[in-house]
Amino acid sequence: MALAKRPPPELFKLSTNTWTQPFWDAAARHALVVARCGDCGHFRMPPTPFCPCCQSQRIDWTPLDGRGTVYAYTIVERAIFAGMEAHLPYVPAVISLHGAGEARLISNVVDVEVAQIHVGMPVQVVWDDVPGQGVAVPRFQPAEV
Ligand SMILES: [Zn+2]
Repeated sequence: MALAKRPPPELFKLSTNTWTQPFWDAAARHALVVARCGDCGHFRMPPTPFCPCCQSQRIDWTPLDGRGTVYAYTIVERAIFAGMEAHLPYVPAVISLHGAGEARLISNVVDVEVAQIHVGMPVQVVWDDVPGQGVAVPRFQPAEV
């Protein structure tokens, strides 16, 4: 059995723009938010300059409860570059976000045996503070029942 680990924080390099900065500002406070069109209500992640439904540029940043389900995932068991060896296996995943329509977030599933991870698994957000960067990265662990 192997526990799903975290990618090394020193490899995390945040790059934001006008459309993504509010997500990371909220994340720094450990708040998970999603971009919702300010005109038609369509959820969109990642946030884009124009709503794909109505072309509006208005965004309402909507707070979420941090719950979701695993939509898709993969298990990485080999280091693709140096520095990863101690962080295997890790599990990149696409998470369907509760309360956010069809919006999904690419993240990692952590702190669970990889053999237990499955599509549809209920998860909840946990926050990994990145040392020295003033930012936190949302990851997901099995939801408490
Ligand atoms: Zn819209």
